Amino acid sequence: ATSVRPTRVTRAVPGLTVAQQRRYASNLEADIVVIEKGETLGGTCLNVGCIPSKSLLNNSHYYHMAHSGDLQNRGVIVENVKLNLDKLMEQKRNVVKALTGGIAGLFKKNKVEWVKGHGKITGPNQVTALGPDGSVVNTINTKNIVIATGSEVTPFPGIEIDEKQVVSSTGALSLTAVPKRFIVIGAGVIGLELGSVWQRLGSEVTAIEFLPAIGGAGIDGEVSQSLQKILNKQGLNFKLGTKVTAAKKTGNEILVSVEDAKDPSKKEDLACDVLLVCVGRRPFTTNLGLEDIGIERDEKGRIPVNSRFQTVVPSIFAIGDCIHGPMLAHKAEDEGVITVEGIAGGAVHIDYNCVPSVIYTHPEVGWVGKTEEDLKKEGIDYKIGKFPHLANSRAKTNLETDGFVKVLADKNTDKVLGVHIIGSVAGELINEAVLAMEYGASAEDVARTCHAHPTCAEALKEAHLAAYFGKPINF
Ligand code: NAD
Repeated sequence: ATSVRPTRVTRAVPGLTVAQQRRYASNLEADIVVIEKGETLGGTCLNVGCIPSKSLLNNSHYYHMAHSGDLQNRGVIVENVKLNLDKLMEQKRNVVKALTGGIAGLFKKNKVEWVKGHGKITGPNQVTALGPDGSVVNTINTKNIVIATGSEVTPFPGIEIDEKQVVSSTGALSLTAVPKRFIVIGAGVIGLELGSVWQRLGSEVTAIEFLPAIGGAGIDGEVSQSLQKILNKQGLNFKLGTKVTAAKKTGNEILVSVEDAKDPSKKEDLACDVLLVCVGRRPFTTNLGLEDIGIERDEKGRIPVNSRFQTVVPSIFAIGDCIHGPMLAHKAEDEGVITVEGIAGGAVHIDYNCVPSVIYTHPEVGWVGKTEEDLKKEGIDYKIGKFPHLANSRAKTNLETDGFVKVLADKNTDKVLGVHIIGSVAGELINEAVLAMEYGASAEDVARTCHAHPTCAEALKEAHLAAYFGKPINF
């Protein structure tokens, strides 16, 4: 969406603190128009990203628990377990509909106007909304413009996506039958999450990855290795250090040509019924009128901005996937909030080191801050505190003992530099580590914080204790 902030000037409200006034300004005082061309609001995350994938991940996990004998192992007898894929997809559509509709409701409540169309910047203070045929739907004159157009799937040269047999993440979220053989190009976040969904539902899944490790950018090496072992045990196959060079449809199957990343003479063809291409995303910045206004994109197609998210045109700002940094909805959300607070006169600050990452496989992976590889590269002396879920009472009662918590702290100051978790609820636990790091906590600070018993979060406390004191109590 291209968000526009028209002219009304913020009014000081007596009795409120400066921060409250800023929030008041951004919530109540500015006239906001959002230009969005999609049929529903919410962008990639709500419509074809985070939300539908988490619905499929959650419900395919339940199916797998019933189907694999895991529930029986817990004393819950379920017989004749069958998959109703239509129902699974219906639940996914319901949650997407509820949440995108929720945004439309929030827009109404907060008097944000939605202009439907493709936003093109036609002046430093003007955005034109275009219809699908390129005709002008609306022209909006405004004080400020925020570009939040996100990203799109990076195409794979020579492989055409039809969203049925050769799919991007969008098509992989809506398959109408469980493919027998499912190949994934790229064992990054999407490859692991959607590979897990279809593997649980019955596909033979092979993920082909150019790098020697899975998990995409930013994952700690030890965590990546451990995750690979766990997912492999679940039945996910990996071909690492392998480059996909081409794919072609022959009848009902697709032949994927691969070669060894180090020795291109080692080649083979792999057959599948559905091929998922997930080799990353690229900023969506096409036909926004950027060149005409003097905004040049960088070598990756991103929009350069300063620390206030301002482009070279002072009235135009940009946030989210179309600028630098990880392509994550929560990063974009925080940037959006501080950008408008900045426009309203407030301070603008974000610590990218404290932006968490989560891979929603089972177990989940969550991390924040530096990896061991980062610290070695930067020459920082660090210490490690580790605690396995096997020794955590709650993980044990839940029969969810795969994984561990790993804390990296400064050897001299004890300051927490990075936290890496594999575990059933890593995506929830990581937020505690983010909070600690935002406050500049030492490992001792977290180790001395009372944690409820029995909870999985105690593993986090113990790993901090191991980092600070040299060993945990319960292992
Ligand atoms: P990614 O960057 O995570 O992974 C792409 C992988 O493809 C990389 O590991 C890369 O080495 C590999 N690759 C590239 N070319 C290849 C080739 N020719 N042969 C074999 N492997 C190749 O990208 P993604 O998984 O497509 O995800 C896209 C974006 O969406 C990412 O920025 C990700 O952060 C975001 N996303 C996040 C979440 C989440 O936060 N849980 C979920 C889904 C997507």
